[in-house]
Amino acid sequence: MTQTPIDVAIVGGGIMGASLAWELARRGTGRVALFERGAIASGSSGRTGALLRRHYSNESEAMLAQTGWETYAHWPEIVGGDPVHTPSGLIATVDTGPGREANAEKLRANVAMQNRVGIPSRVVDRDELRKLQPFAQWDDVALAAYEPDSGYVDAVAATRSMAQAARRAGAAIQEGMPVLGVTVEGDRVSGVRTAEGVVPAATIVVAAGPWANRALAGSGVTLPIETLRVQIAILHRPLELEEPHFVYLDTVAGIFCRPYGPGRTLIGVSGGDQHDPVDPDVYLEQNDPGYGALAIAAIARRIPAMRGAVQIGGHAGLYDMSPDAHPLIGSMGPEGLFVMTGFSGAGFKKGPAVGRAMAELLLDGAPSFVDLAPFRPDRVFAPDYDPRTPWSATEYDLGSDFGHGL
Ligand SMILES: Cc1cc2nc3c(=O)[nH]c(=O)nc-3n(C[C@H](O)[C@H](O)[C@H](O)COP(=O)(O)OP(=O)(O)OC[C@H]3O[C@@H](n4cnc5c(N)ncnc54)[C@H](O)[C@@H]3O)c2cc1C
Repeated sequence: MTQTPIDVAIVGGGIMGASLAWELARRGTGRVALFERGAIASGSSGRTGALLRRHYSNESEAMLAQTGWETYAHWPEIVGGDPVHTPSGLIATVDTGPGREANAEKLRANVAMQNRVGIPSRVVDRDELRKLQPFAQWDDVALAAYEPDSGYVDAVAATRSMAQAARRAGAAIQEGMPVLGVTVEGDRVSGVRTAEGVVPAATIVVAAGPWANRALAGSGVTLPIETLRVQIAILHRPLELEEPHFVYLDTVAGIFCRPYGPGRTLIGVSGGDQHDPVDPDVYLEQNDPGYGALAIAAIARRIPAMRGAVQIGGHAGLYDMSPDAHPLIGSMGPEGLFVMTGFSGAGFKKGPAVGRAMAELLLDGAPSFVDLAPFRPDRVFAPDYDPRTPWSATEYDLGSDFGHGL
């Protein structure tokens, strides 16, 4: 079947693909089509925690997190539709105990860096933590970063709303349309292969998360993405914890958590045994038996009354891990091919910013608000590439993390 040529083909309808489709369409970019193999937000963007931390130890990602936050926090004015963000307040903890004293200075420096890029954040000590969240125990935390207007997002609502906005602006959004690979003529991409034939496309952006390599078939590019299964549980809080807690990105207690509707908490537990490599098409999408009990024990370490919590839901999702746990954003392989993947369990907050950066790269030659150079995908193939190389002098030494650092 002969297909109408398009200017930009986007593969994947998660927050990355949807944000790029909207940014391109609203700038009047020719024919933009997004191909989603299932339904919008049926990948990681529909299974995420969607905590919107802006605490990073490198400026490039802090900038992406800040720019993403601006869109989420002002959604009705910028994207249209209902609000998606709840500014609950956020605390990020790091171990500053024996052997890790250097993390205290790094925390101060990172908060100062955040302030420089426009993120309201401050260092708080144990006394202030006790005042901010009196129902939690903070004996094991000396210092933390406090972001008063950070919070969390309804991820499915936001991703769908973004796709609807893209459609209103003129992008074609095609659900139930897997891309089987990429066609190349000479040194350029020429189209995407679908079950209905090849759709000619001058530019292809693969935003297919853990499935990126399958969409890249035929391009000659294979990215070192590992797929990890990660779980989150939904807990019903006991009545004495009626007041919602802040978002905690708590590397000391080894948990990330946020409120999840009235009286409920979403929680993930850190640690290698919670992060299993899997085939993205064949993995257990439910919680392991016992995950709820593990999550309750972990959060009760921070909020003792959560011993009385009850699990009422939960699931497993996928992290698309790059070797260094930082994203791969930019051109790769034949002319006209771009990727946005490898978000390593920390991409949702950055989605609108990455969409804007990629749109500006395609239309203007470079993004106006962030330098994408650190994220260039071909870094992982450089002969001197060492994934353990820190991304800044203020990168933390953490005992537990969430597959990614801070
Ligand atoms: C349990 C969990 C907790 C998380 N918590 C947080 C958090 O608190 N904060 C945060 O910022 N991030 C978090 N993340 C990470 C975040 O969810 C992801 O980084 C983000 O959603 C990635 O978006 P994406 O658009 O790149 O990928 P996805 O949402 O996975 O989208 C990719 C899409 O591509 C489609 N697709 C795949 N192959 C093809 C093909 N061949 N053709 C067409 N379509 C295709 C898929 O169906 C999918 O819809 C978490 C992730 C998980 C799993």
